[in-house]
Amino acid sequence: MTKATILILGGTQEARELAQVLAGQPAMNVITSLAGRTAVPHLPPGRIVQGGFGGIDGLVDFIADNHVTALIDATHPFAARMGMQAGLAADRAQVPLLRLERPAWTRQPDDRWDEVDDWDQAVIALKTNAQRILLAIGRQELAPFAGLDHLWFLIRSVERPDPMPPFSQCEFLAARGPFSVADETALLRAHAIDTIVCKNSGGTASAAKLVAARELGLRVVMLRRPARPVTETVTQIDQAVVWAIRVRSPAR
Ligand code: NAP
Repeated sequence: MTKATILILGGTQEARELAQVLAGQPAMNVITSLAGRTAVPHLPPGRIVQGGFGGIDGLVDFIADNHVTALIDATHPFAARMGMQAGLAADRAQVPLLRLERPAWTRQPDDRWDEVDDWDQAVIALKTNAQRILLAIGRQELAPFAGLDHLWFLIRSVERPDPMPPFSQCEFLAARGPFSVADETALLRAHAIDTIVCKNSGGTASAAKLVAARELGLRVVMLRRPARPVTETVTQIDQAVVWAIRVRSPAR
């Protein structure tokens, strides 16, 4: 059997789990690529490359140099640039591409969501009916909120922003999911939060805050997902494994 080399574009729990399963498959080399933003990432089995490829050309070269036979884009739903680059590079390198993406969260009947398409819209949404905000959007995109001097922010992310944008009133909390509903409820109550700002990441690790918000009747300003290239897409690890096996041994 010809040995296949699968390149997984990672940075998510799904990518780690997929690498774990594929690494146990016969005749399959697994490479996981990480952007290299997290100081202490959870590393999957198999070969790891970190720090980006240097754009589309770099990714095309990497695919050729490492005899990559298939590409799986398992990046976070908001890693839109990498998603676009993966689509274009797979096309140019003539390798099959699969998108593994967790389903988006959907609004439930008792939810008080304001869905927005960018952070400017979120800032406008916070100008009314918000005073104490849980900002749970990671640490890279905080700047648009720092000008809202009259609001108080609890900023939660895995690592501390460096530098921290100049918020007038804020507290920082370092935390990595998964979070429980009980802990999220306690946190929201302890800080008298009235509004949560977050991305529609989907998945279970950070969904508890939405359940807590629903139960407490809090408002959620939710960033919608950006567009991705149109390609074959699955939501489950086992579907991605089936795909990887299928493209390794295409029907003749
Ligand atoms: P992005 O804006 O889509 O990508 C920016 C650049 O980072 C890309 O052009 C690429 O650099 C590099 N990059 C991104 N993902 C990569 C990967 N898996 N392997 C190698 N290079 C990668 O990405 P982002 O939103 O900054 O996210 C960075 C990483 O964090 C991703 O791996 C993503 O899965 C993870 N993540 C993102 C979020 C989020 O909310 N955005 C949340 C959780 C985890 P080159 O052009 O040099 O190749």
